[in-house]
Amino acid sequence: MSDRLPGFSTLAVHAGAQPDPTTGARATPIYQTTSFVFNDADHAASLFGLQAFGNIYTRIGNPTNAVLEERVAALEGGTAALAVASGHAAQVVVLQQLLQPGDEFIAARKLYGGSINQFAHAFKSFGWNVVWADPDDIASFERAVTPRTKAIFIESIANPAGSITDIEAISTVARKAGVPMIVDNTLASPYLIRPIDHGADIVVHSLTKFLGGHGNSLGGIIVDAGTFDWSAGGKYPMLSEPRPEYHGIRLQETFGNFAFAIACRVLGLRDLGPALSPFNAFMILTGIETLPLRMQKHCDNAKAVAEFLAGHPAVSAVNYAGLASDKYNQLARKYAPKGAGAVFTFRLKGGYDAGVSLVSKLQLFSHLANVGDTRSLVIHPASTTHSQLDDAAKIKSGAGPDVVRLSIGIEDKEDLIADLEQALGA
Ligand SMILES: *Cc1c(COP(=O)(O)O)cnc(C)c1O
Repeated sequence: MSDRLPGFSTLAVHAGAQPDPTTGARATPIYQTTSFVFNDADHAASLFGLQAFGNIYTRIGNPTNAVLEERVAALEGGTAALAVASGHAAQVVVLQQLLQPGDEFIAARKLYGGSINQFAHAFKSFGWNVVWADPDDIASFERAVTPRTKAIFIESIANPAGSITDIEAISTVARKAGVPMIVDNTLASPYLIRPIDHGADIVVHSLTKFLGGHGNSLGGIIVDAGTFDWSAGGKYPMLSEPRPEYHGIRLQETFGNFAFAIACRVLGLRDLGPALSPFNAFMILTGIETLPLRMQKHCDNAKAVAEFLAGHPAVSAVNYAGLASDKYNQLARKYAPKGAGAVFTFRLKGGYDAGVSLVSKLQLFSHLANVGDTRSLVIHPASTTHSQLDDAAKIKSGAGPDVVRLSIGIEDKEDLIADLEQALGA
């Protein structure tokens, strides 16, 4: 063996996996079982007391899911990870470890629409209060900090317009406030951006998107950077105080730099229950093996399509951070030098009607509400995801009546451009 540390593409294929010890199976098997037999009574007791690592029940952990967890932790440069049923489940489980009723977290205003709903409405019933800040105005994060602030949540590449967030600047605010920074890295994937290298304490993903990559399986994951001291300041009792459900164990004291991942598993996943199916873990693992190849093609195609649209007479503006003229191009060069992702918006001179007409005329692009598929996708937010908002609110959230969002796939770029040309021109 050489001393070389494996590169990103090697980790994408191999991290966490080895030939199956009983059968020699080379691909990771789907351990489609709910439960696992104990060696003896002592073994059972030590598993339940968190004195030994091992399998008990698939709601708490599963060997197929464990390979996925180790692989994504390696790709993100974290100490450990926990796979869950969806991206939204990851967000619930993370915040449950950090917030008590009445606490606050600061979130960037530019987020996936589903996260805006989850934070503003669903979390209110848990007593978790979101305070919004503007990712283009770092001082707005500083102003939002109060003694009840427990976390800061941002997206690395933000929905819907593919804008790039200044992760390091916001991490400085989080350090000063003594709270962890959570980065949703779904639109970038670790191939484009590794938020832990820029100060993230926790990374979350919707595996449903680019990591799985084929539009066939939901999943989510939480990566622990191992960087945060949960005992400082006494703000995080789930991690620093004795846990009655585990004979008084203190998680940080016992598990050190992967205590947060353990808390998410043994307090969050075990008790809230959003476990990932091992079948989905297998599909997503298979997807991750080609992540570097797919992501580069997604980005190269997106840049070509953005350039085509920028020169088209029916188009009034293109928001793609990979274009030299874009407001976020400087940040894209710093954080995502291999490419600015594959999700972006553009605006049509013909307004709302032109948007509706475009989605109905496109043939190769699928009209649907998803991103990060091998297939190219299109949506007109004003008539779909954002239709319940009034015009002013639509414009504020980047979904004005003339806005169309694309998620560029890995087809031949010439075919994508030809499809857009016929739909815009006809
Ligand atoms: C899709 C998505 C989510 C939610 O993930 P699900 O797997 O659909 O629950 C969260 N954040 C971003 C950026 C997303 O694109």
